[in-house]
Amino acid sequence: MPSSPSVNRSGRGTNSPSRRGPVLIDTHIHLDAAEFDRDRDLLLDQARNAGVGAFVVPAVDRASFARVALLGSRHADVYPALGIHPLYAGGADPSDLGQLESALESVRPLAVGEIGLDHYVEDVDRERQSFFFIEQLRLAQRHDLPVILHVRKAQDAVLKELRRHPVRGGIAHAFNGSRQQADAFIALGFKLGFGGAMSFEGSQRIRRLARELPLETIVLETDAPDMAPAWGQGERNLPQNIAEYARILADLRAQPVELIVRATSANARQALPGLAERLPSR
Ligand SMILES: [Zn+2]
Repeated sequence: MPSSPSVNRSGRGTNSPSRRGPVLIDTHIHLDAAEFDRDRDLLLDQARNAGVGAFVVPAVDRASFARVALLGSRHADVYPALGIHPLYAGGADPSDLGQLESALESVRPLAVGEIGLDHYVEDVDRERQSFFFIEQLRLAQRHDLPVILHVRKAQDAVLKELRRHPVRGGIAHAFNGSRQQADAFIALGFKLGFGGAMSFEGSQRIRRLARELPLETIVLETDAPDMAPAWGQGERNLPQNIAEYARILADLRAQPVELIVRATSANARQALPGLAERLPSR
């Protein structure tokens, strides 16, 4: 049963502005976060009314597999990804990988994610992060799934593992590397995720990448409730903010926002083939 009478199987609200144009795809949003417990359905509707047609929700640990799967079964426009986040590697057990593998078979997520390496935070053992990252690359390989990557201060280390354990591409979320590293991810079949960081005048490198990278390499994301934009510091980042991120990207590139929406959504479908199968393109 649809979660809301205004949402049909394709996830489009019947009174949504998205009916008149291409839909936005939020390729990274933690909708299962406790920060959204009090008003999740309301925020989802606000985002749908702002033109969002699909929400990709990555898991972060074993406990979240069931949470994101449940959201996916409740809402036709919510699409789970399943994986163990590098910052949760410290609390993860190798047996969680078996749980992940059976969930990949039963939930049929869009991707393995979010997975990766975080060398910014000191308190999670790097060897442990690498173990879970590599094992999950192998799972993605075995199930022919793309991956959603978390990469912080570890661009080259992640690229090295991707070359040793090739997967069918995916998304490097909240991309924050150099142009050379961006090109390396693109060459390996990845799209690069951009969101609230573009809203800060001081984020020179990210804004320059967003302006100069080929449009076919960019996808949009909120990472809500994290990564609040410049206008919402100290508050929750909200699902509806993605529409503003599309406008910021359009301004940076001096391109029409309709083109940005259409292109980034096509890119998301390309990076996540399960989305192309399940969400009709318009
Ligand atoms: Zn995330």
